[in-house]
Amino acid sequence: MKKVGYFNGEIGPLEEMKIPMTARSVYFGDGVYDAAMIANGVVFDLEDHLDRFYNSLRLLDIRNFAFDREQLKKELLRTAAEAEGDVLLLYWQADRGSWPRQHRYPPEDVKANLLITVTPKKLADIRLPVKLITAEDTRYLHCNVKTLNLIPNVMANQKAAEAGCDEAVFHRGSIVTEGSYSNVSILSAGRLITHPADELILPGISRKHLLGLAGKLGVECVEREFTLDEMFGADEVFITGSTTLVRRADSIDGKSVGGRAGELFLTLQGAYMDRVREITGLDIPYR
Ligand code: PLP
Repeated sequence: MKKVGYFNGEIGPLEEMKIPMTARSVYFGDGVYDAAMIANGVVFDLEDHLDRFYNSLRLLDIRNFAFDREQLKKELLRTAAEAEGDVLLLYWQADRGSWPRQHRYPPEDVKANLLITVTPKKLADIRLPVKLITAEDTRYLHCNVKTLNLIPNVMANQKAAEAGCDEAVFHRGSIVTEGSYSNVSILSAGRLITHPADELILPGISRKHLLGLAGKLGVECVEREFTLDEMFGADEVFITGSTTLVRRADSIDGKSVGGRAGELFLTLQGAYMDRVREITGLDIPYR
């Protein structure tokens, strides 16, 4: 199958799958999700994604999710096995179950819904820089939870698209937080600076591994707030994400940025892509 759908144990072509109107995801976006890249049949960093998913469930107090980690893995992998393609996006979400609309949780015997999709993913040419816009971060204070509620992200991303750009960088006042679907970091005076993994950003898995690789290469990493001015003046600005991978930006709000620490950026991007290649066999040109 080209695009595979799964709902509570049933697998079929994505276009033919249906979910109940009473699913809590429909009324309230009352659920959590995660998404990982599959390359050559390998789910990249699946264990990290599972850690984050179970943490999101815990933070949203979704107690009725029936699958333990091994069972969930089995469902994800058997759904993925139905899909065709070298590079795929594995997406899954759990909502608080199906029940007529009411704010309080459904009764305890109602089980959470598990929905999975596996779709082909065309990776961008990561040698090309991305263009960014800035957008005020009007999100709430639980951005570390990967909830289904992504309205500010969706609207900021649309604004970026309408400006002919790839991604929107959120800022709370003068402080840069993250992108609408990626984490944002800068290189400045040889150091990698990125927002701390607190409740104002999603703890990106690519961000985490990039920090680990940078540390091994002897690059000083500083997890601290940085300002819009620092970003505009940084030696490099880049975004990270599971299928975004690692990409530098060359403009923000139409102004040129970065381009002053190209070799350091390529070293970091190369280390990340080497890790992707070692784990999945996927060889993507980055230089
Ligand atoms: N920040 C946001 C808001 C995201 O939606 C994502 C990815 O979905 C990321 C950051 C990057 O996270 P990861 O590297 O785990 O894909």
